[in-house]
Amino acid sequence: ASDFGIEKALNQLGISEFNKGTSTGSDWFSGGDEISSYSPVDGLLIGKVTTTTKENYEQVLEKAQVAFKEWRTVPAPQRGEIVRQFGEELRKLKEPLGKLVSYEMGKSYQEGLGEVQEMIDICDFAVGLSRQLHGLTMHSERPGHRMYEQYHPLGIVGIISAFNFPVAVWAWNTTLAWICGDVCVWKPSEKTPLCGVACQNIIAKVLEKNNVPEGISCLVNGDYKVGEMMTTDKRIPLISATGSTRMGKIVGATVGGRLGKSLLELGGNNAIIVTPDADIKMTVIGAVFGAVGTAGQRCTSTRRLIIHDSIYEGVKKAVVDAYAQLNIGNPLDENNHVGPLIDKDAVKGYEDALVKVVEEGGTMVVEGGVLSGDGYESGCYVKPAIAEAEGSYKIVQHETFAPVLYLLKYTGDVENAIDIQNGVAQGLSSAIMTNNLREAERFLSVAGSDCGIANVNIGTSGAEIGGAFGGEKDTGGGRESGSDAWKIYMRRQTNTINYTTELPLAQGIKFDL
Ligand code: NAD
Repeated sequence: ASDFGIEKALNQLGISEFNKGTSTGSDWFSGGDEISSYSPVDGLLIGKVTTTTKENYEQVLEKAQVAFKEWRTVPAPQRGEIVRQFGEELRKLKEPLGKLVSYEMGKSYQEGLGEVQEMIDICDFAVGLSRQLHGLTMHSERPGHRMYEQYHPLGIVGIISAFNFPVAVWAWNTTLAWICGDVCVWKPSEKTPLCGVACQNIIAKVLEKNNVPEGISCLVNGDYKVGEMMTTDKRIPLISATGSTRMGKIVGATVGGRLGKSLLELGGNNAIIVTPDADIKMTVIGAVFGAVGTAGQRCTSTRRLIIHDSIYEGVKKAVVDAYAQLNIGNPLDENNHVGPLIDKDAVKGYEDALVKVVEEGGTMVVEGGVLSGDGYESGCYVKPAIAEAEGSYKIVQHETFAPVLYLLKYTGDVENAIDIQNGVAQGLSSAIMTNNLREAERFLSVAGSDCGIANVNIGTSGAEIGGAFGGEKDTGGGRESGSDAWKIYMRRQTNTINYTTELPLAQGIKFDL
């Protein structure tokens, strides 16, 4: 991997062979077991991180609580200035951080750079937002009264993130939370701990330089047990958790049980509907990038193509032909389209799905398989596969986090395709390919897609930071990033002020003494 400048990138990011995994700002400490981070790219050890013990965790929470008391009084535009500086640092370190994302997670270097660009974009968004945390004013029904609402910071925000977006998801949450006046405790995925350490190194420098309190940005490391310290902790009013639906159900119940707030960003089972009026060239690009990009490990990856029977054979052939051109290999090599899966468990999940779809009656149209030999030593490289299937199959209803695409057929009206598209438990991203205005508007209407994201003539995968991101049903209902997603990081207060010498009651109630 040294050919690709990994050593240099790690140095620039302050990552060594051994890294402490618990930090409050610039103050690093450790105590727990070690996690070894192996690259799925070449199977080599990148570095080790210590996990957070219960004692470490208490230290973190105390520092975060102290930091919050100070940070909440800093005017929001000044908090935005810190985020602006953070964005500047990310611009300087875009290449090494993009490289680490690619090497530790396995996505292509281009996508690694794209992920850091998302961090930069959300910084810019947050800076602007720091002057726009608007509330409303209302007209009071009582004379001589003024009524308005304002937003106050919430406190400590706990961020639990998944391996597949090891840096951007944190930034989506933390930059908004910071400008809102909150402090953050982040537990990255135990599969990508070094990305967490690298990010904390970057922000710690910015905090130190500005002499703002430690504990605005805290890092804890470990698996679900460290996650549980956070979800059960009453001192954390909001938990933002990104990952599987299985995890989200547990986290949602735990946080709900103590009446905390949770923002859940969970699994998807995303489909593209291809109608007789679709532009086939655009469909193929959108579907293939959606299905094989990040080796099918995006929450918005395209898992189902729902194709009208009148054009089915033509679309199938075009997609199969495109798959024949895919290069699978080291994601740091820009000639490759598809990198590895995150680990061997993910490979097992992929292999199981291929067996199950055939057992349920499906037919493979592009055969899958695990690659071995030169360049594939990590054992994590698989061939993107395509199967013809039915929407009702159990395996098609399930999110397999790998490059497996199911071709489904529909007949008659677009309503039938929408029924198939909505007929799964998840509700994250959806798309329709059509030049027919009626079909497109039906897809976007109240009786159309039930997903948090519904696109026309672009694929399911990838999103801009300006919109609110998230999905319905088993995807968890949370929204983060753009639009008014910031409101979840704040508490709303309604204020009524009486500037008269009378005390009239609301609803005209009389109470004379
Ligand atoms: P995962 O659920 O295995 O782990 C996600 C995080 O949750 C990790 O940090 C893990 O340690 C933690 N965790 C697991 N169990 C926990 C518990 N009981 N209490 C507290 N924390 C716990 O998911 P993964 O394999 O890392 O990521 C893949 C999944 O994430 C896919 O389902 C994908 O669709 C989803 N995802 C969703 C979005 C979105 O925005 N909707 C974005 C990225 C990934």
